[in-house]
Amino acid sequence: MRVRFAPSPTGALHIGGARTALYNWLCARGSGGAMVLRIEDTDRERSSEATIAQILDALRWLELDWDGDPVSQFARRDRHQAAIERLLEQGKAYYDSATAEQVKAWRAVNRGAGYRGRETTADGAAIRLRVPDSGTTVVDDRIRGEVRFENRLLDDLVIARADGTALYNFAVAVDDAEMEVSDVVRGEDHLSNTPKQLLVFAALGIEPPRYAHIPLLHGPDGKKLSKRHGAASVQELRRSGYLPEAVRNYLALLGWGADDDETLLSTDELLRRFSIDRVGRSSAIFDEKKLRWINGRYMRESELAAYEARLAAHLEEGDRAAAATFAAADPAHRRAALAIVQDKAQVLSEVWKLIAFLFGEPVRDDAAWKKVMVADGEVAVAHTLSALSALGESDFTAARIEPVLRALAEREQIKLKNLLQPIRVAVSGGLVSPGLFESLEVLGREISLSRLDAARSSAP
Ligand code: GLU
Repeated sequence: MRVRFAPSPTGALHIGGARTALYNWLCARGSGGAMVLRIEDTDRERSSEATIAQILDALRWLELDWDGDPVSQFARRDRHQAAIERLLEQGKAYYDSATAEQVKAWRAVNRGAGYRGRETTADGAAIRLRVPDSGTTVVDDRIRGEVRFENRLLDDLVIARADGTALYNFAVAVDDAEMEVSDVVRGEDHLSNTPKQLLVFAALGIEPPRYAHIPLLHGPDGKKLSKRHGAASVQELRRSGYLPEAVRNYLALLGWGADDDETLLSTDELLRRFSIDRVGRSSAIFDEKKLRWINGRYMRESELAAYEARLAAHLEEGDRAAAATFAAADPAHRRAALAIVQDKAQVLSEVWKLIAFLFGEPVRDDAAWKKVMVADGEVAVAHTLSALSALGESDFTAARIEPVLRALAEREQIKLKNLLQPIRVAVSGGLVSPGLFESLEVLGREISLSRLDAARSSAP
């Protein structure tokens, strides 16, 4: 099996495109086949080197590798022209100098029929492929089944403009033929192009590839996927702190389901079990909440060392100051902090927000302070300060702190929550943190007590 991923470099790699790339990759790598990359850059105005680099970068981040160097469609224009010449010589294509007006007039007379032009000389003429008047062009799609197109309803296809440059559908078919693509897996929005491409294959006398058109992605509201539904590009997913393996897992499930409705599937399992024939026909729903949940599971299950490296890289890309602070900390302290946040954060971008207070002065959430550090809160902090002061350095562990604070709440008849909230605010600055007992342990006796002390005297 030899597949291709053929992005147009007119914008970032979107989630739909990433899923197409993934499905191609799973088909190729799951069967020992190859995946080649073709950059469809013939629209010179809208294509750019920067966008190509961005797309390749997104694929690398997703760890979807390809075989050989990426092929530029624009660089193959001589090949397209050579194929056009051949078809002209064989009489399978012809020059048609009809103006748009003349085509319109033709259509008015021949209602509904596919346009047939009249052969003229080359000057200022577009080149059209002759389409048979009878018969049917059948797309035998692995997902959609047979989709039939009556030839008499299909236009003689324009394959080159008057300036000689090849048109899109022609270039795609010639490239797929010459790149020996065995299977085309792409978005359903291309289904209407397929009969045209099949006609080109027929004219070239080359066996066409097999096709699989995958349904488009929609948002949870049923509308076509767009920015409104959250992160739209792979780059944004990366910036939001998703892990590539979780993204692969989630994207694989969008339209394809394993037999037993499993949701967490490692890439190895996906490679073993993915089958394009089992992709459904209805549009799939991209739900960022579900992706977050899956990502959280991967975050929780990753090895601490890998987790640490991932966070460090994430901070390096988005928050240099935090990256430096994190890197400068004692390695044991770093690991201890990560261990208590690992089952809390669903994406990497949440991690630092949750643990920054373990690495430096907390950022104070004024609203939380006002809410919690009222008179009772101050009293709670004062009690806590004296209760925890009684613990020695070596006893300052979550296992010892928890019973002390529970006993304190009982003795003072304070609801546990009303005791813990002020402490949380005092040591972390706000109301959201990893487990409080563990946080105190990681923070250590000295800093914990000094923050409690400071909070007591600086309550709003
Ligand atoms: N370049 C097209 C796109 O980005 C894909 C063409 C194809 O897969 O045949 O939508």
